[in-house]
Amino acid sequence: MAEVSSKHVIRSKQGAEESMSALAELMRGGHVVAFTGAGISASAGIATYRDLKSVGSSGAMATRAASFEAVKNAVPTLTHRVLKRLTDKGLLTCVVTTNIDDLHAKSGLIPNEKQLIELHGNLFSERCDWCHTVYRRNFIVSQYTPLELTRGNVPLVSPASERCCQSCGKELRCTVVGTNQLLYEPTYWAAMEALSEAELALCIGTSHEVAPASAVPFYAKKVVMCNTEQTRGEKNVKVKVVVRAEADQTMKELWDRLYPHEVI
Ligand SMILES: [Zn+2]
Repeated sequence: MAEVSSKHVIRSKQGAEESMSALAELMRGGHVVAFTGAGISASAGIATYRDLKSVGSSGAMATRAASFEAVKNAVPTLTHRVLKRLTDKGLLTCVVTTNIDDLHAKSGLIPNEKQLIELHGNLFSERCDWCHTVYRRNFIVSQYTPLELTRGNVPLVSPASERCCQSCGKELRCTVVGTNQLLYEPTYWAAMEALSEAELALCIGTSHEVAPASAVPFYAKKVVMCNTEQTRGEKNVKVKVVVRAEADQTMKELWDRLYPHEVI
């Protein structure tokens, strides 16, 4: 078995035996919080932050339509399904995500401050500014696309929708946090608390480029990073394993090691 210590960071090519063994061993210890980013929704057809940044203004209109359609029609990926099953097994205590595409909730996780924490909000939910009641919808509540929201081409607060709060009658706003906006504080502190209590942060498909969310996983005692490309923070002393592969491949291999007799 591969040794996992503070001086032994395993950096290997796609699906390498030693990094997957080390990851499975760390997972068996429990008290794991998953921290997910856009990379886990790429195989569902949703563009990542890096993809969106590379689109020029001439492609903006086509991208506007495409990104809405992609998010509306997307279904959870194998990675989303594995994370739900690991939660059911008790191996994962919580999932913290920067994704706004609703796929974790569609996989069956319950959005609250204990099981699924959506740091950047969700395109399918809106909140009352006054009494903070959140309403989950089965449609996209914002008039802005994920592209525009991630580029920060919107006002400092998310636009009010035409719906009102059933409790107090005030206007509702999309919960998605744009680039120029502050995170919703109770959500941020819930994420910090979850990671502070975790033995391991299992980071999957996140570029670690958007602060302050990028710092949150490092409040765990140990960190694993799974991404197709090199990301910021990999040299941090808390990072014990780096897996350089597609999210679905990594999670399939991990599941097969942890539960070889159960099909995912
Ligand atoms: Zn209200």
